[in-house]
Amino acid sequence: MTPEQRSNFMRRIRSKNTRPEMLVRRFLFSHGFRYRIHAKTLPGTPDLTIVGLRTCIFINGCFWHGHEGCSMYKMPQTHIDFWSHKIARNKQRDHENLLALKAQGWHTIEIWECQLKPKEKEKTLQGLLRTLNFISLQNQGARLTYNFDYEEERSLAAEEDTNIS
Ligand SMILES: [Zn+2]
Repeated sequence: MTPEQRSNFMRRIRSKNTRPEMLVRRFLFSHGFRYRIHAKTLPGTPDLTIVGLRTCIFINGCFWHGHEGCSMYKMPQTHIDFWSHKIARNKQRDHENLLALKAQGWHTIEIWECQLKPKEKEKTLQGLLRTLNFISLQNQGARLTYNFDYEEERSLAAEEDTNIS
């Protein structure tokens, strides 16, 4: 890697408001979610925080966060010690941040850069939506279950009436 390539690389992987991040933000916003960006008061400064769902979302660059088994996580041919040490430290820190958030009662979701590639992104974003809906149901607990049952009974009753007449 030339020094120039290396600095491009560094800039790309460290920066906030990256393309993958913007993709997730736009998707969530268009689905009615509102979120805080880079909440510095929380462990790891989560990329997105949906306070109402008590959920933090991290959008991880595959190289910088060491995505195991991922084709986007390839060690550069030079300065291998430097990079592997740095990435091991990042992974350790990510792990500690997730534990700290969980201990404070936050749900955490990690999305990898490779999961937002054109071929993958639709599946990933739909999965994210399902996960957030699930968390929402979980947080609301029993009261919502009761409402569901009630609505279902009513609509069944209405259908029967139609069949009879
Ligand atoms: Zn990856």
